[in-house]
Amino acid sequence: MGDRSAAGVAGTPATSGAHGVASAPGISVRQLTKTYGRFRALHRVDLEVAPGSFLALFGPNGAGKSTLLGIIAGLVRPSRGQVFLDGEEITKDRDENLGKRIGALSYQTYLYDELTVLENLRFYGRLFGVEDREERIESLLSTVGMESRSGSPVRTLSRGMRQRVALARALLHDPDILLLDEPYSGLDQDAMVMLKTVLTARNKTILLVTHDLVRGLESADRVAILNRGRLVFEAEARELSASDFEQTYRDHAV
Ligand code: ADP
Repeated sequence: MGDRSAAGVAGTPATSGAHGVASAPGISVRQLTKTYGRFRALHRVDLEVAPGSFLALFGPNGAGKSTLLGIIAGLVRPSRGQVFLDGEEITKDRDENLGKRIGALSYQTYLYDELTVLENLRFYGRLFGVEDREERIESLLSTVGMESRSGSPVRTLSRGMRQRVALARALLHDPDILLLDEPYSGLDQDAMVMLKTVLTARNKTILLVTHDLVRGLESADRVAILNRGRLVFEAEARELSASDFEQTYRDHAV
């Protein structure tokens, strides 16, 4: 846990989200533009995710959400603009250690189909230099409820089970920043509850992309809507009821 007073001024709690945890780095996106040929997937996007806070990002298919997450994760090059993690610009030079600071979960599970669940997690544990690897893996398998399938090749798992393992993989190195693209897809009710517990018992900076307005709104500190590559709405989650937000989304995501 970080020193709460460190980020606030003279004892004022840090304005870093409902949980006030200031130790995780923040994400700062400035004037980010991405073009594919003549098509603009992102247009001058400015976005802040305060250290230790949770932002849920919504938008229709093709709005540019995955592109934005890809750029923050260092997987996609922006055309213009900057991304800072904890004040450090990551869009300038390729940072080899970026993967160690970020936990990513997307439609791509980054799991090897032919390897077992355990082999996958051991592989990534070594890659990320995770200390006390076996204990960490055991504890995460228990968190995501997959201990009994640790010896199964990933290709034999259901979609939701893979998503559970992918979540364990994303959390393995205890990253400060979580980038989650539709993490709920394929998860059953138990896994949804588990994911919510994991995300609310955090000291991490979280950027979540989802189509689930209600779930996103109830989990996040702030919400934002991206439409046709532009950030068109941003607000504190607690200031919006689910029905207000559904109307706001309909008004903005056209
Ligand atoms: P979202 O995640 O919001 O559904 P994406 O970020 O995946 O949207 O895509 C935004 C737009 O950029 C879409 O119109 C998509 O077709 C386009 N796009 C994404 N990646 C590429 C690419 N590699 N080449 C060309 N166009 C792309």
